[in-house]
Amino acid sequence: MSVIYLDNNATTEVAKEVLEAMLPYFRDLYGNPSSMHTFGGQVAQKIREAREQVAALIGALPEEIIFTSCGTESDNAAIRSALATRPDKKHIITSRVEHPAIRALCANLGTHGYKITELPVDKNGILDLENLEKSMTPDTAIVSLMWGNNETGVIFPVEEAAAMVHKRGILFHTDAVQTTGKIPINMKKNAIDMLSISGHKLHAPKGIGILYIRRGTKFSPFLIGGHQERERRGGTENTPSIIGLGKACELAAKNMEKENTYVKGLRDKLEKQILTKIPQSRVNGDTTNRLPNTTNISFEYVEGEAILLLMNEHGICASSGSACTSGSLQPSHVLRAMGVPFTMAHGSIRFSLSIYNTEKEIDFVIDKMPAIIERLRGMSPYWNSSQPACTNQ
Ligand code: PLP
Repeated sequence: MSVIYLDNNATTEVAKEVLEAMLPYFRDLYGNPSSMHTFGGQVAQKIREAREQVAALIGALPEEIIFTSCGTESDNAAIRSALATRPDKKHIITSRVEHPAIRALCANLGTHGYKITELPVDKNGILDLENLEKSMTPDTAIVSLMWGNNETGVIFPVEEAAAMVHKRGILFHTDAVQTTGKIPINMKKNAIDMLSISGHKLHAPKGIGILYIRRGTKFSPFLIGGHQERERRGGTENTPSIIGLGKACELAAKNMEKENTYVKGLRDKLEKQILTKIPQSRVNGDTTNRLPNTTNISFEYVEGEAILLLMNEHGICASSGSACTSGSLQPSHVLRAMGVPFTMAHGSIRFSLSIYNTEKEIDFVIDKMPAIIERLRGMSPYWNSSQPACTNQ
């Protein structure tokens, strides 16, 4: 059975070109880029090129890019640096829908004397910037708001937010892990101080990330060791992955338009057909300002996990908006923050596409989904008892 991979916000396939660019750095060119000899020096040169490729994708300067091990490290490094460089300030502002790389870190910092404000979102997952304005205080060290949400694809107005935050002399960080390569980013045109990227979300391998640090921003390193990354991140460079990520960024710049037309077209077709064919299904999150590859759809009165299992029987890979915590299924914090009703939040599925998906695959999924939902609803006592009252389809 072939796999239909619609889980690209979880991770992506490594592009063929990326793998090819990486392979020599495992086999023949294994020198340490910090070495004095030419054998290592040629690797250092390739890292410089990769840094330029990354910088070009986001309109940054090469020296503003540091390579990390993942998006989580980049997020942690940004927040911890802000706190270390502003030790008199004890307040962090973030949102209720951030990835755990920010949310869990902030929860942890909350137990160490920091005050955390999590800004709410409305029923469409939209952030009200007035709340941000009201939440900033002289004690605020950093505001961290994600650019694109991993579950719903909803895009936050981070450039506007950064401008507001900057006026108050506060640092601004954004988690752009889901955004990079999908929508244009130009750091020359905004006031964002720090930005996180993860390689495996844009067809580079897992275990490589980027932290952008605007020139002139004070930075306190998270990993202290050797002189690598201009002493902003110690540790021998993950050379093959850095070179792969450079290539992935070059490809992303080239494919961005395809992402916005071809991928968006497939996503819109999938979404429209599912909503048409399946009663009591609805999209979670603002559909006007959204990543082009993501749709989060709820099917009332069914469990997301059960849907995934039946999809899996057809080789269809996606994610659900509920997670099994302590033996009970909890709807995701994102859907809860949006106030999605319990019966809808439990049956939510995130479909996230990439340029490698085909129309044939999407047609296959459109064909299979109605029977999957019907089968599960046939077994659901809640669905059956809800039937007489259901008139909204
Ligand atoms: N931030 C967001 C929005 C994400 O979606 C993810 C991964 O799913 C991360 C951060 C963490 O990235 P990584 O897996 O590279 O640590």
